[in-house]
Amino acid sequence: MNLTAFYKQLGEEVEKGTQPRVIESGQGPYLTIKGVRKLNLCSSHYLGFTEDQRIRQATIDAVKDLGIGTGYRTLAGTHSLHLELEEAIAKFKGTEGALVFSSAYLANCSAIQTIIGKEDIVISDELNHASIIDAVSLSKVQNKYIYKHGDVSDLEAKLNEAKTLMETPKSKGELPVTLIVTDGVFSMDGDLAPLPQIVELAKKYGVLTMVDDAHGEGVLGKGGRGIVDHFGLVGQIDIEIGSLSKAFSSTGGFIAGNKTMIGYQKLKSRQRLFSIALSIPDAAASLEAIKILLESDAPVKKLWENVEYLKSEFQKIGLDTGHSESAIIPVMLGDEEVAKQFSAKLFEENVFATPILFPMVAKGKARIRVIPSASHSKEDLDLAVKAFEKVAKELQVI
Ligand SMILES: *Cc1c(COP(=O)(O)O)cnc(C)c1O
Repeated sequence: MNLTAFYKQLGEEVEKGTQPRVIESGQGPYLTIKGVRKLNLCSSHYLGFTEDQRIRQATIDAVKDLGIGTGYRTLAGTHSLHLELEEAIAKFKGTEGALVFSSAYLANCSAIQTIIGKEDIVISDELNHASIIDAVSLSKVQNKYIYKHGDVSDLEAKLNEAKTLMETPKSKGELPVTLIVTDGVFSMDGDLAPLPQIVELAKKYGVLTMVDDAHGEGVLGKGGRGIVDHFGLVGQIDIEIGSLSKAFSSTGGFIAGNKTMIGYQKLKSRQRLFSIALSIPDAAASLEAIKILLESDAPVKKLWENVEYLKSEFQKIGLDTGHSESAIIPVMLGDEEVAKQFSAKLFEENVFATPILFPMVAKGKARIRVIPSASHSKEDLDLAVKAFEKVAKELQVI
């Protein structure tokens, strides 16, 4: 293509694109946008840790001691702080080890690319997060099976389809390895992967399991230990992925798993070899957040109180809150245009909650995704309910 034509085509797309809102405050229960305070119902800081005093202080102390930047983990970038964080994560998750990266996107890429090659087999839920889809592409695996969302019998059908391949040696002679991969909490509906049945099938067929628990950590299970703990499956999943950017309110991601898996990832991961270690403030903030949760489940309890309260108040006024089992509350609207208008009108009421539209969800399944946090007071949530009721009536949704 001629470059003038190429840039013209790109420019047309840029023109059509919308600009994100600019936040002028921290990510607490309220956000300041263009000088106006808006109730924050859209960030995934489930436990309200963005403004936690203990975490701020720990971060400031670490920056005073160590500065900001790090290095490459295998060269001169492994600080004792990283090891302390990895130990704390492993303790929190109940795994033999953990390995941190500068995002969960990278952790997913590493987890899959490091152990899966062209001739191996991946079986993936159709609604898995984009970072899992990209990770699978990166591995260049040719044998990909996509099972219907959360559908255990379709998963077993795919395992059966793959059976001959599983028993056929690869070009170098050994048998392929098979990996079942799923999100833990699906972030659009807030529903959970059927992990007990997945683990059962994995055992039956002798395959690996991987769960991305980005929206489950700090939310599900004992004291927020995540979906694996929630289902009583600690020690039975080969690879757990976590994000430090959601409930832990910092930046980073990790792989948690058994000693051999973590050891191998440490040795071979391209994301570890060729991308920078977690920064000092991010590592310090994450470590303090995990320490808080290791000491007390109070923030998790507060989150759930808020989730249950908001969900039941929404239902009382006649809103459809879908079938979430997590802290994500989808307010189901269906029509794309209604969802867009709903969010815009909420914004006028100083409530910030984003519409989720096609292609993030199927056509006709548009919604407002509401995420309360432990930092909201009952008064904050009552304000939300009032605004939702007013807008829902205006748009004749109720
Ligand atoms: C948010 C999210 C990620 C990406 O996490 P980052 O740490 O922001 O890269 C990965 N997987 C799932 C399921 C997520 O929800």
